[in-house]
Amino acid sequence: MLTKILDENLIQKAKHILSRADKVAIIAHVGPDGDAVGSSLALADFLMEQKKSVQVMLPDSLPGFLKWLPGAEKILIYVEQPDVCRMFLEQADVVVFLDFNQRKRMGGGLDSCLEGIKAKFILMDHHPFPDTFADVILSYPQIASTSEIVFRYICRIGAFDEMSKACATCVYTGMMTDTGAFTYNSNNEEMYYIISQLIRKGVDKDDVYNKVYNTYSVGRMRLMGFLLYERMQIWEGLGAAVITLSLEESKPFDNKVGDTEGFVNLPLSIEGVMLSVFMREDTDKIKISFRSRGSFPCNKLASELFNGGGHLNAAGGEFYGSLQDAVKRLEESLPSFIL
Ligand code: 5GP
Ligand code: MN
Repeated sequence: MLTKILDENLIQKAKHILSRADKVAIIAHVGPDGDAVGSSLALADFLMEQKKSVQVMLPDSLPGFLKWLPGAEKILIYVEQPDVCRMFLEQADVVVFLDFNQRKRMGGGLDSCLEGIKAKFILMDHHPFPDTFADVILSYPQIASTSEIVFRYICRIGAFDEMSKACATCVYTGMMTDTGAFTYNSNNEEMYYIISQLIRKGVDKDDVYNKVYNTYSVGRMRLMGFLLYERMQIWEGLGAAVITLSLEESKPFDNKVGDTEGFVNLPLSIEGVMLSVFMREDTDKIKISFRSRGSFPCNKLASELFNGGGHLNAAGGEFYGSLQDAVKRLEESLPSFIL
């Protein structure tokens, strides 16, 4: 049995809104990760089993290591098909937002499509400090993944038996990726009860692991080697590591979307490194990822220095300027966060 973490009143509200809807849009965050895509496809599959017309939309494309997920081929990518997304949203009865809690995490395009539409908004997420732009907000930062929230929601409305193997596989993928394959944020015993129920549904957890983590291209593997050897700085006194990657440096490695995903975790394997920061130059900005061990608050660092946010041990932000200036800002301010 699972503890009833989700609020009964909110569950009933969400259930009521969804039960009356024919057309449901599901939106996850920009730079979608395993939990964003997993929770979206899990909920989409569940609602489609209930004969609803469902469309998952992402602001930008998903990484190759998630494209095998059941239903991924039907996802609409806003930057590729903005008009189709806009048309669906204009007719939608409900929009469900998953795995983010600030409108700007949708990117401007999708956000602008929401102006004036008739749909009710439901948000399910596990990041702290939610904005209040939805009619029903299921916000649970104590739960390790949005995919787990979706699972709990389905169970609480009494629909576990209707959950398909495809839905269970998507839930498992989100739970796995947001805990680094159950290596952090993963001491909750109920998580393993849920996994046992997902395996009962037919999930092959070893297969999911292989499809997500063991699909490096040669270029991605070589890029990882290059970054660790050439571009990783260790700030010993601060217990921190910083990796930088410019657009120019990434060229020879023939990178695809998502190829640098997870690299930020690597320096945490070094003894004494409690904070790891990965800075990647994009066409218009520097995208920054933070990971920590223990109680170091990555989200505080991300929000105060780099206009971002996230969780205690995993956060992200951005910087408008050069890579060198981003490193400088971090180097100047980090001591005050640590001491
Ligand atoms: P990642 O480093 O994998 O991109 O993101 C780590 C965590 O921080 C994720 O939970 C993600 O949702 C959050 N995050 C990443 N970038 C941003 C950002 O720019 N703003 C906010 N608020 N959260 C972010
Ligand atoms: Mn998540």
